[in-house]
Amino acid sequence: MTIGFTHETLGQRVVFAPKDAADATSAEVAGLGARRVMVIAAPAERTLADRVCADVPVALVHDDVRMHVPVENAERARAAAAESRADALLSIGGGSTTGLAKAVALTTGLPIVAVPTTYAGSEATPVWGLTSGNEKQTGVDPRVLPASIVYDAALTTSLPVELSVASGLNAMAHCVDSMWAPHSDPLDIALSAEGARALTTGLPRVVAAPEGLEGRQDTLFGAYLAAVAFASAGSGLHHKICHVLGGRYDLPHAQTHAVVLPHVLALNAPNAPDADRRLSQAFGSDTALDGLEALQTQLDAPRALRDLGMRRADLPDAVAAILPVAPPSNPTPVTEDNVAGLLQRAWEGAPPR
Ligand code: NAD
Repeated sequence: MTIGFTHETLGQRVVFAPKDAADATSAEVAGLGARRVMVIAAPAERTLADRVCADVPVALVHDDVRMHVPVENAERARAAAAESRADALLSIGGGSTTGLAKAVALTTGLPIVAVPTTYAGSEATPVWGLTSGNEKQTGVDPRVLPASIVYDAALTTSLPVELSVASGLNAMAHCVDSMWAPHSDPLDIALSAEGARALTTGLPRVVAAPEGLEGRQDTLFGAYLAAVAFASAGSGLHHKICHVLGGRYDLPHAQTHAVVLPHVLALNAPNAPDADRRLSQAFGSDTALDGLEALQTQLDAPRALRDLGMRRADLPDAVAAILPVAPPSNPTPVTEDNVAGLLQRAWEGAPPR
């Protein structure tokens, strides 16, 4: 077999520092030579931020964070960065907080140290997102890739179990979709397979012992591998679908990923035998779909878009919006019929087969 591909490795430091976020973060900030740090953390993340910032030269704490980064929030944060003469950004929180730091970095070029407290993975990608009205615009820019990531699993023990499950399945979606996304390569596939294995080990332990570090560490490690794969492979069909659903109907990000994922896997697995084999090994199951479904059941994961607030009447509009953005390279050719069937089943929470 010939192995030929091109892979771009992103330049970023990553520090895994269990129970040691404060020291690791101050070292990363010092490494940048920063003296006036703008800390970004949502109100729910403030206690964690105070723990992490003990030895950081903080110029300003900014907590005006909203999911999907509305343009007005980005403008306010950029103005605050300029006014405080910040020379670096420190984001402490979930994907929404990282997203706001990225929006500031996009126009100011300030370096980011990211301290994630969910499993969303935005910290390992150069992808930014901004929302205007109900249109979410995304782009790729090297300026928004954090210079350093500090992972401390102890910062995720306060994430409620339901949100931990949804966020962990958002990470699993990075693994699964990276198996066949437009720029997927053998390195992405290897990272995805190991990421899926770590998430499959970690998430049930998070549910069994949310305060324990072991499950949290595996899940965080899996989320990082997943995000690195996703950053290289790009958005496959699953991410295109969730992007449309999240943007148009204001559905919660991680939960939407958790619901849609088995349906996309059911569509693609018959025409992606290598992905099916690697994922079933990661899940320890006969088929990838069996493994994912068993995991979802074990985690009591969300199953229906209608439970997340989507209206049945919006399904035809969603199908029409998904068809033009579906990747032509998707393993199973995408048709109006199969997308309509997939969405209908995901909406009602029917089995994905
Ligand atoms: P989130 O950041 O909105 O967090 C969900 C809620 O949990 C928030 O209220 C937050 O304050 C709270 N929270 C976070 N960590 C906590 C903790 N440890 N303890 C208690 N509460 C905590 O949700 P998310 O799923 O992490 O991120 C979603 C956003 O990230 C979306 O906008 C999505 O588009 C974006 N995202 C971007 C990328 C990318 O590559 N650019 C990748 C994944 C997600």
